[in-house]
Amino acid sequence: MINFEYVKANSAQSASEARIKNGASQFIAGGTNLVDLMKKGITAPERLIDINALPLKEISLTPKGLSIGALVPNSVAADHETVKTKYPLLAMALNAGASAQLRNMATVGGNIMQRTRCSYFYDTTMPCNKRNPGTGCSAVEGYNRMHAIFGASEQCIAVHPSDMCVALAALNATVQVSGTKGTRKIPFADFHRLPADTPQLDTNLQVGELITAVSIPAHSFNKAYYLKVRDRLSYAFALVSVAVALDVKDGMIRSAAIAMGGVAHKPWRLYEVEEFVTGKPISKELFTEAASIAMTGAKTYTHNQYKIKLGKAAIIEALTKASS
Ligand code: SF4
Repeated sequence: MINFEYVKANSAQSASEARIKNGASQFIAGGTNLVDLMKKGITAPERLIDINALPLKEISLTPKGLSIGALVPNSVAADHETVKTKYPLLAMALNAGASAQLRNMATVGGNIMQRTRCSYFYDTTMPCNKRNPGTGCSAVEGYNRMHAIFGASEQCIAVHPSDMCVALAALNATVQVSGTKGTRKIPFADFHRLPADTPQLDTNLQVGELITAVSIPAHSFNKAYYLKVRDRLSYAFALVSVAVALDVKDGMIRSAAIAMGGVAHKPWRLYEVEEFVTGKPISKELFTEAASIAMTGAKTYTHNQYKIKLGKAAIIEALTKASS
C-alpha cells in the first residue's frame, strides 16, 4: 500500500468538492472493498475522503416508498422491521451477501459501488482491461467459470458481485446522488454499465457525485424470494442468483419483477420473462418456459457453460418458492 492523505468530510457538498479538487481521491465509508483494492495495489488513491460523519443513516417509509440512507450498514438494513415486512426481497438479498462481519461494516452505498471479483482483476501480474485499459482481458481465454453470459464484450466478461443490487434492480429502485452541481436521481437500471469498450467504468456516476440514498417505490407484490447459488453456504459470491417479486391472487400472477445476479456486468433484469408470466396461472410448465426465455441469447465461454442449465433451474426454483 502506498501513502495517502486522509480527510473527513462534514457535508456532502464538501465531500464532492474535495473529490473534484483531487482527481486521484476516493470516498470511503465501510471500506470493505476499497481497502482490499488498495492493499493489492489495484487502486492507489492519493486522498481518502471519509464520509462516515455525514447524516446518511436513516431508513424511512412514506406512502411513496422506502428510502435507505447510503451509510446504513447492510446488516442494519437487513434487520430493519420495515425492510423485513414490506420489502422482504431486499432483506433476503442483503442477508445472502458476504459474511455477518462484512455486512456489519459494509454500507448500502458501498455495496452499490463494489467492484467485480474477477480473479484476474485482483492479480496485478495479469492483463486486465478493467484495471489497466488496453492491456487485454485474461478471462476471455482464461479460467472463466464465474464470468458473464449476458451483456459481455470481448473487452471484459466480468460480473457484478452484489446480491443487494439484484433485488434493487427488480424493485425498480432509484439511486439518489449529490454533486457540486446539485442532486439527481438515477434509475437503478441506468446506474451500472455494461462493459462495451470501456470496462474500466462500472457506473454512470460523474466525478464528484456521491450516493446519498436509495429509494424503492411502493409496490403491490405479496410474494418474494431471493435464491443464491454459490460454492459454499456463506461468504461466497453468486454463481447465479435470482430475485423474484410477484403479485399473486387466486393462483394467478398479476404482476412480476425478476432479476438475475452472477450473469452480467450489472444486475440483469428479466423484462421479457416478467411479461410472459404476467396474467397467467402458476404452474410448473409456466416456470419451465419462463426459464427457457430467460436464457435466450446467453453466450458462454469455456468454463461457464454450466450457467445456462443452472440459471434455468434457479429461475424455476425461485419462481416456485416465491409463489408457494
Ligand atoms: Fe479484467 Fe474484466 Fe477481463 Fe476480468 S473479465 S480480466 S475484470 S477485463
